[in-house]
Amino acid sequence: MADAVSIVNVGYRSANFWVLSAGRSRLLVDLGWAGMFGALDAELRRKDIPVGEIGHGLATHYHIDHAGCAQDLKQRGMRLIVTPEQVAAIPRMKDVLKPGQPYTDIALDDNVIVPIAESRRFLAALGFEGQLVHTPGHSDDSVSLLLESGEVFTGDLTHPQLMTEKAAAVVTASWTRLRDLGARTVHAGHGPVRPMPATAGPN
Ligand SMILES: [Zn+2]
Repeated sequence: MADAVSIVNVGYRSANFWVLSAGRSRLLVDLGWAGMFGALDAELRRKDIPVGEIGHGLATHYHIDHAGCAQDLKQRGMRLIVTPEQVAAIPRMKDVLKPGQPYTDIALDDNVIVPIAESRRFLAALGFEGQLVHTPGHSDDSVSLLLESGEVFTGDLTHPQLMTEKAAAVVTASWTRLRDLGARTVHAGHGPVRPMPATAGPN
């Protein structure tokens, strides 16, 4: 049987970053604010998690408050998990940086590309029972990590009460997909841990 998964929030500045640990295996979900690796490292130290123990990391999507320290973490030994849906979004992250804003550019040639369909097997090899789920709505490259326990890491997937009419169909479909796959408890990129929202529309 797989080890129980512990979940520790190492977030700062209104964003949540989650360290999932199963035995000695650690996976970081969302990767810090651009140019603020020092703050992320300080949070990790405060929670007694040496950065060098983070073997793998995943960004729910490539915005500067979710994937900002990806390359800084890679330089300290983390392997970056990327799904094919995310590849094109990585270089575009730079487009929203202000002039002179510090940021370590993410290399594209050394990431671990994990197709969604193979994610269950990939995660199992790391000691985690679960899967990646493509959950567009906030952005096309948004991916959620759903654990077998029903705990799901959704990044910025829009709450149904806040979605625009334009995005409603896509957002609702993403929440429905997660619910159908067994999601129960939401660890979002911002705000407290909460239950799955009641989604509008047909089941
Ligand atoms: Zn975002």
